[in-house]
Amino acid sequence: MLTCPSEPAALPCPCCLTEQRQGLDGWHHICPNCAYESAQFSNAINLAHASLSESRRADGLRALRESNFRELLRLLNPHLTDRHQRLLEVGCGHGWFLQLAAQRFAVVGIEPDEQIFQLARAKGLPVVAGYFPAALRPEERFDVMVFNDVLEHIPDPQATLLACHAALSPGGLLVLNLPTSKGLFYVLAKVGRRLGLDAAFERLWQKGFPSPHLHYFDRSNLARLLQGCGFLVCANGSLPSIRLQGLYNRIAYASPGKPVQHGLLWLALLLCYPLVKWLPSDAMLVLAVRQDAPPKA
Ligand SMILES: [Zn+2]
Repeated sequence: MLTCPSEPAALPCPCCLTEQRQGLDGWHHICPNCAYESAQFSNAINLAHASLSESRRADGLRALRESNFRELLRLLNPHLTDRHQRLLEVGCGHGWFLQLAAQRFAVVGIEPDEQIFQLARAKGLPVVAGYFPAALRPEERFDVMVFNDVLEHIPDPQATLLACHAALSPGGLLVLNLPTSKGLFYVLAKVGRRLGLDAAFERLWQKGFPSPHLHYFDRSNLARLLQGCGFLVCANGSLPSIRLQGLYNRIAYASPGKPVQHGLLWLALLLCYPLVKWLPSDAMLVLAVRQDAPPKA
């Protein structure tokens, strides 16, 4: 069979190993069996801050993230026992979740972005610079591991979940907070892309961002991936994907200097907001417990 040499080869689906097919763009692929989606983007973390305003990004996200983190801790709480003491957050950013979680756990964070790591350390938070799992000592073990909007940025999610299985203690809990392909905005963005409107689809994948999204899962294919890596899903939740407080800064930070377009988008979201709350959220929360049996993968 002849193939075009300029077209990047699609990797097998990490959830079910089926060969992925071309999606809605040259960089986008979809698994025909389980609907997992992937993007072939490169990562330029640590080269980011010349073009993006980190303080504006932080302002835009903080209110949404902090209320989501409280919801995450509420979902986690019924599954905790006295032995769940040490918590690791992978990609802890500014440390907002660590600050909340420190009221219950002995916390540690890992952060690969040097500038943000320095900001978190300056606040006195127990943060390690680098990538998971390389930034940990091989003998370190945790009882709870949390990924807040991180797994979708990591090139090999299967290897990462296997490393989580190795770094968690028996009965350890894994919390994944990430975008879902079944969310309202993502479904609408795909409809837009089919109609020739690229902007929302590319924005949700964070195309051109320093650390773009590389995966879109749904609950079903993510549960399958988790099972193959030695985890059993024990609770599911959803989080609001937009919040009015900080919304303008969140819209504006990636492309400064377009106040009219940003204002119109902000107004459209403001008008839709009462309806959006009742439709499928773009942010899913999955809690999985580590199984004692070794992973199949
Ligand atoms: Zn698949």
